[in-house]
Amino acid sequence: MTAPDAPAAAPGEAARFELLAGEAPVGPRLGRIHTARGVVDTPAFMPVATRGMLRGPWPDRMRPMGVRMMLANAFHLWARPGPDVVRDLGGLHAFLGWDGPVLTDSGGFQAFSLREAARAAEEGFLLPHPVRGHRVTWTPELAFRAQAELGPEFAMVLDDCPPDPDDRDRVAAAVARTLRWARRQRDLHEARGGGASGQALCAIVQGGLHADLRAACAEALVEMEFDGYAVGGVSVGEDFAGRMAGVALSTRHLPTDRFRYLMGVGTPRDLVEAVARGVDLFDCVYPTRSGRFGTALTRGGTLHLLNARFTRDPRPIEPGCSCDACATGVPRGAIRAGLKAKELLPMGLLAHHNLHFLTDLMRRIREAVAADAFAALRAEVAAAWPAAGEGSPGEADAGDS
Ligand SMILES: [Zn+2]
Repeated sequence: MTAPDAPAAAPGEAARFELLAGEAPVGPRLGRIHTARGVVDTPAFMPVATRGMLRGPWPDRMRPMGVRMMLANAFHLWARPGPDVVRDLGGLHAFLGWDGPVLTDSGGFQAFSLREAARAAEEGFLLPHPVRGHRVTWTPELAFRAQAELGPEFAMVLDDCPPDPDDRDRVAAAVARTLRWARRQRDLHEARGGGASGQALCAIVQGGLHADLRAACAEALVEMEFDGYAVGGVSVGEDFAGRMAGVALSTRHLPTDRFRYLMGVGTPRDLVEAVARGVDLFDCVYPTRSGRFGTALTRGGTLHLLNARFTRDPRPIEPGCSCDACATGVPRGAIRAGLKAKELLPMGLLAHHNLHFLTDLMRRIREAVAADAFAALRAEVAAAWPAAGEGSPGEADAGDS
């Protein structure tokens, strides 16, 4: 183990991943990402501030909660307010109210989620401007430049995430295009000085559930040498087993000395199972979005606080939880009443609690891996969060505490 105050990334490097435990390509690992803005112990979860704004929780509560890295979206920030405005406001970190490392996504997933309206061509995506609605061509070069200007520690390449993972021809074409785009962006990165620019560049593995396509994509990207590798094209409609198959088909081809990042996946069960398959880094809107819809994540499973049985429940969101939201003591019944009245505070409290829950789960995962007790934690989470078809995916019992 390296001392916690180990030096940041070496000169000429924007970031450095240090593998602390777990040598197998597919298996739980412990790592540490060194950046000029601090260290990120992995496995880790990044809260999502798509437009540079957390949805509910306050940014100054992130570090005490255990958050060490945040995510924003380059496409959305490019659309509004624009990288030049972000720069004039003091830069991306000032915009976020966060002084730790930041990773920006490139907009590939936005193109995927707009698949009815977006069209992929060799040049880039033709897709609607998220604010003004007119068609824009979002190219790998534009995604790269926007991220270079925004200045996160970690930029993602623009990739082509195919809409239907079962359409093998389309997935194969997406892999080929993802590789061509990755090369174009890597060349731009090198022309800018590589890691000496202060930014690390990460690539995204596509390939659906096709083992040969995942392997070919991962191996070609590894040959191009990126600072980290993401597993993309997962959680696009497949079931739990499919998601995990997509992860394992990717991580087994990735080098152990770079971090692996699973994009947009974030239920407790998904996090633990992806860690079991060698993933180090996560992001997802799930904790904040589910909070806005009245769902609390607890060790016993989910609680849907809009349910009538919480009307007179005087307990905090999760008794025994050390988070700021539970510390307010606002009862479940009050949160339910406030949600019904479309008040903002209950949404903020639940989003904060849920983010705390996942951040704390990542801490427990790291401690369990270090203590060789990961299997027990994995079983505990599987029992509280069964996947569809594994038993009752029901709510935690009302009598939980
Ligand atoms: Zn709490």
